Amino acid sequence: MAFDIDMIKAVYAKFPSRIAAARKAVGKPLTLSEKILYSHLWDGDANTAFERGKSYVDFAPDRVAMQDATAQMALLQFMQAGKPTAAVPSTVHCDHLILAKEGAKDDLRNSLTASGEVFNFLESVSNKYGIGFWKPGAGIIHQVVLENYAFPGGMMIGTDSHTVNAGGLGMVAIGVGGADAVDVMAGMPWELKFPKLIGVHLTGKLNGWTAPKDVILKVAGILTVKGGTGAIVEYFGPGAKSMSATGKGTICNMGAEIGATTSTFGYDESMDRYLRATDRADVADLANEIKEHLTGDDEVYANPQQYFDQVIEINLDELEPYINGPFTPDRATPVSKMKEEAEKNGWPMDVEWGLIGSCTNSSYEDLSRASSIAQQAIDKNLKTKSEFGINPGSEQVRYTAERDGLLGIFEDLNATIFTNACGPCIGQWERAGNNTRVNTIVHSFNRNFSKRADGNPNTHAFVTSPEMVAAIAISGNLGFNPLTDTLTNEKGEQVKLDPPVGSELPAKGFAVEDNGYQAPAENGSSVEVVVKPDSKRLQLLEPFAPWDGKNITGAKLLIKAFGKCTTDHISMAGPWLRFRGHLDNISDNCLIGAVNAYNQSTNSVKNQLTGEYGPVPATARQYKAAGVPSIVVGDHNYGEGSSREHAAMEPRHLGVKAVLVKSFARIHETNLKKQGMLGLTFANEADYDKVQEDDTINFLDLVDFAPGKPLMIEFVHADGSKDVIAANHTYNEAQIGWFRAGSALNLIKEESKK
Ligand code: SF4
Repeated sequence: MAFDIDMIKAVYAKFPSRIAAARKAVGKPLTLSEKILYSHLWDGDANTAFERGKSYVDFAPDRVAMQDATAQMALLQFMQAGKPTAAVPSTVHCDHLILAKEGAKDDLRNSLTASGEVFNFLESVSNKYGIGFWKPGAGIIHQVVLENYAFPGGMMIGTDSHTVNAGGLGMVAIGVGGADAVDVMAGMPWELKFPKLIGVHLTGKLNGWTAPKDVILKVAGILTVKGGTGAIVEYFGPGAKSMSATGKGTICNMGAEIGATTSTFGYDESMDRYLRATDRADVADLANEIKEHLTGDDEVYANPQQYFDQVIEINLDELEPYINGPFTPDRATPVSKMKEEAEKNGWPMDVEWGLIGSCTNSSYEDLSRASSIAQQAIDKNLKTKSEFGINPGSEQVRYTAERDGLLGIFEDLNATIFTNACGPCIGQWERAGNNTRVNTIVHSFNRNFSKRADGNPNTHAFVTSPEMVAAIAISGNLGFNPLTDTLTNEKGEQVKLDPPVGSELPAKGFAVEDNGYQAPAENGSSVEVVVKPDSKRLQLLEPFAPWDGKNITGAKLLIKAFGKCTTDHISMAGPWLRFRGHLDNISDNCLIGAVNAYNQSTNSVKNQLTGEYGPVPATARQYKAAGVPSIVVGDHNYGEGSSREHAAMEPRHLGVKAVLVKSFARIHETNLKKQGMLGLTFANEADYDKVQEDDTINFLDLVDFAPGKPLMIEFVHADGSKDVIAANHTYNEAQIGWFRAGSALNLIKEESKK
């Protein structure tokens, strides 16, 4: 089950009646987000108004997408669920496990050898359970989804935080952990807290050097990395209509960087054009028949303050190009201020690499606009001062861009064309001569956390648009402002780069010889899935033990994490990606990037059994072996970043019982719940400071665990004194059931047996 026009017809058939019912229930005009949500209620009853930010609601997503790094764990779990086939159209995309080093051809061949076992596993599971399989080199999951599966008004989930990219085609597309994907593929409802709504009113039109990327870079500066938490961001206004569908995808994509549940745009002509260009005229025709339901009601957009929880106004006529970073995607600096800002902060001015690609910015339009800058460099006798690398988003984009001469332009500037895959964006980059040198890179990706691209904590990575990456790579200087500055060419002349030009869609249409798709077997019941018992890469899962019904007592503090603790800090990517299908092996990276609040070091925590300092995973394993439960304490927005549930499964596997933090990122909090962990927040944030390194921790009333009721936890300090603190939680009755059963999957298995 891959692309299914009948499924889209069935979804659209429900829209008019469900939206009318929802409008009546809510008692006012509806945003697009509400229309999509109410049209996808699991029980189909749109006669109840849900409270934004409060009500837990069951939904019926239309499809599921998984990438190779997270699909391993998702499918290992699905295999336990006891279902013969995926209940909704689902796809697997092999894009994360391909190392960028020499260039596409060699890199792909080497990765097929290095990760062949995993690719074969994913291929055979997909084949068995009716899941579409996109081979290594076919492209980055979100670009492939936008090109093939996304449709206006649809709802999908994906085991990757940038699933939200499909909002570019008017979907509500949400990143989740693998356990959520298992729910939907097992034919069960998928639960989400009804989101709040943030409206972004775009007026004016992008012009000159500004690009869709600058819209989201500015929004990230306004909202910060947690400002979108629990909300859908809905873009509207004339500025929204003036942008391409892939440009809208870029904006939605980086909604993940502000913590938003997802982002979306109303259906418009750009989406119609994109659907037709990607061979889906039938979908465009269907969408046009119900187009009034595929955008927010007029009254909503006329008076947005009345209908959204927050409204942001951006005039695209006045928008400047932005460069965000280093180390966090919300540190937004307009290009005109970057020189001053970089000098003030001592950021390295020499730019060593410019990288274009990632699911955020690897469309045909992106490559065409960036190549227009590259062409100018050639025409004006300029050379790139930085190294230059390109990852096309899909084989279809790559093939078409090569046919149209765009890749040739980059190659003439000595750029390396890497595989149609994530590559440096996820640390799959063997960067020559890099260690711990302080240096700067610029890229068109979405994330720039410390160590993300190349594992070097001293790499200052800056996020910007592809055209700005090209300009900065040519200049080799972080402070270069192409709007005002000139460059000295090979002849010693001063030359200026003109603003980029490009094509929204290829004039001769898209083309591809082999898009890399492999349909599953009609009947996969006889397909054998092989996992070798001695495999280092894959390990069949053992169910987590159910709760024993008693208070957790005598627990030790594994780590009190200080400051930013993203999923990259909890479960690093890069070289660790190879263990994503082997829970025990990947657990050796558990929290090794988190900073210990007591010594400001990473991967060095006090083992209370021995009094000595040691690595986090080894310490956790010793507690587990001794039958001593442990807990993790963290700061704000704990678990920010990716959807990887390894960040929840690893501590669970290593005997951590609870994670107590000032606040959570949404996906990670859900992942903890699904894996049978306690995800708790300090009722009083200042209590974070009361937690001491040698504490012994006792839960006082876990036996009365109930929705809305804080849990009381006693921290017994080394000197015998105690602090009892209140911990809030957001578990509802069903989620408490997951905790009791040991995991959500344990409950599904029980259901399947009935
Ligand atoms: Fe791949 Fe990077 Fe996009 Fe994640 S953010 S899907 S690693 S390109």
